[in-house]
Amino acid sequence: MESIREEAKVVPVKGNYDVIVAGGGIAGIASALASKRQGAKTLLIEKAFMLGGLATAGLVTIYLPLCDGEGTQVSYGIAEELLRLSVKHGYEARNIDFWLNDKDVEKRKKTRFETQFNANVFAILCEQLLRNEGVDILYGTSVCAVAKSGNRVDAVITENKSGREAYVANAFIDATGDADLFKQASSPTVDFGQGNVAAYWYYEYFENAYKLRMLGFSDTPDKYKTKEKIENDTRKRYTGLDGKELSELTCYSHSQILDDFLKKGGVNDAHAICSIATTPQIRMTRRIDGKYVMCDEEIRVKYDDSVGLFSDWRKKGPVYELPFRCLYSDIDNMFTCGRSISVTDDMWDITRVIPVCAVSGEAVGIAAAMLKDRIENLDVTELQAKLRANGVKIHTDEL
Ligand SMILES: Cc1cc2nc3c(=O)[nH]c(=O)nc-3n(C[C@H](O)[C@H](O)[C@H](O)COP(=O)(O)OP(=O)(O)OC[C@H]3O[C@@H](n4cnc5c(N)ncnc54)[C@H](O)[C@@H]3O)c2cc1C
Repeated sequence: MESIREEAKVVPVKGNYDVIVAGGGIAGIASALASKRQGAKTLLIEKAFMLGGLATAGLVTIYLPLCDGEGTQVSYGIAEELLRLSVKHGYEARNIDFWLNDKDVEKRKKTRFETQFNANVFAILCEQLLRNEGVDILYGTSVCAVAKSGNRVDAVITENKSGREAYVANAFIDATGDADLFKQASSPTVDFGQGNVAAYWYYEYFENAYKLRMLGFSDTPDKYKTKEKIENDTRKRYTGLDGKELSELTCYSHSQILDDFLKKGGVNDAHAICSIATTPQIRMTRRIDGKYVMCDEEIRVKYDDSVGLFSDWRKKGPVYELPFRCLYSDIDNMFTCGRSISVTDDMWDITRVIPVCAVSGEAVGIAAAMLKDRIENLDVTELQAKLRANGVKIHTDEL
């Protein structure tokens, strides 16, 4: 048998919202928070049972920089709020009091505005923050389809322990990291060409210390490699878009972790694996084919529709404006943020990180709450004014 026809079903509508956010990673958290703060009735749907996505369940606990590496902060608003929240009860590493409390200009030039947080503490704090602000959270729920009329999404179809249900909203935010909702809506999407090398970050307890083991560093974009280097690189690549492949990657990562751990001996009262990721550590998968596709050469380019600023985590200097047009495509009432914004493969390595996910999340959260009919008709000047009111810097000449 090659295929089976799934029976069409009538599903109950379980909720009506102004804004629905699918995915509770950093981008989804930022967007749900921003949307609710604009007065929109907001639902956040998350397939896991904790918030934070890769940053918490994926054990990616380094909040990369909010600054340009030369002493100037560039990302503000919720990007900064979440960084502060992540270390509210202490740092795991990278104490940055000179950024958070006292203004030591010389230290700021030398050490970037980045930190390392505890994944579990941060996940709980994010949950408490959203609940205190009035965001509804639906855990253990996957968005598995969208219901559309023309270029509009009317509802998301979800699946959880209760079965299949529908949630209706005026605007939707795809914060799944993989542009799942855009794919479900048959909107054009682009897969990451280079593929991902395996990563297997985990926490261990060893020599009286609780430590993050970062195994599997990020890959350099092909653009910066020689032809020879590309040809000689035989590491297996993962798309992150295939269920079976993700399961194989997960098993491979688990065995790499165990091998690494056993090199220092077995389990005893001074040696243990503390936590392994509960989501695959995949960096780039699928993005929307947005109204604009941004590339890494657009340093300090000014856009009329900029909605925030971010830096290059890999090196000092570059600062980018984020055009609003990278955050939507041909669907009238759906945005994206986080890992799936519309950028080239080379730029993706810069925009996929936690601070940029928060910057894009905040922008679309406000935009979704403002949306009346079509995104194309949204007043971007008003959106920028609302972002500025939250402390966000829009253009590089405001720094
Ligand atoms: C190995 C590795 C190392 C990294 N290192 C760093 C680093 O040091 N610092 C840094 O800042 N960044 C780093 N990154 C990047 C960064 O962690 C992520 O890109 C960022 O956290 C992504 O946030 P997001 O919200 O866009 O997506 P995600 O964190 O992927 O969140 C998406 C959320 O949506 C949920 N979801 C997905 N599909 C559905 C669905 N259909 N229905 C409902 N829910 C759904 C997921 O469960 C998840 O919670 C690293 C990434 C990797 C993989």
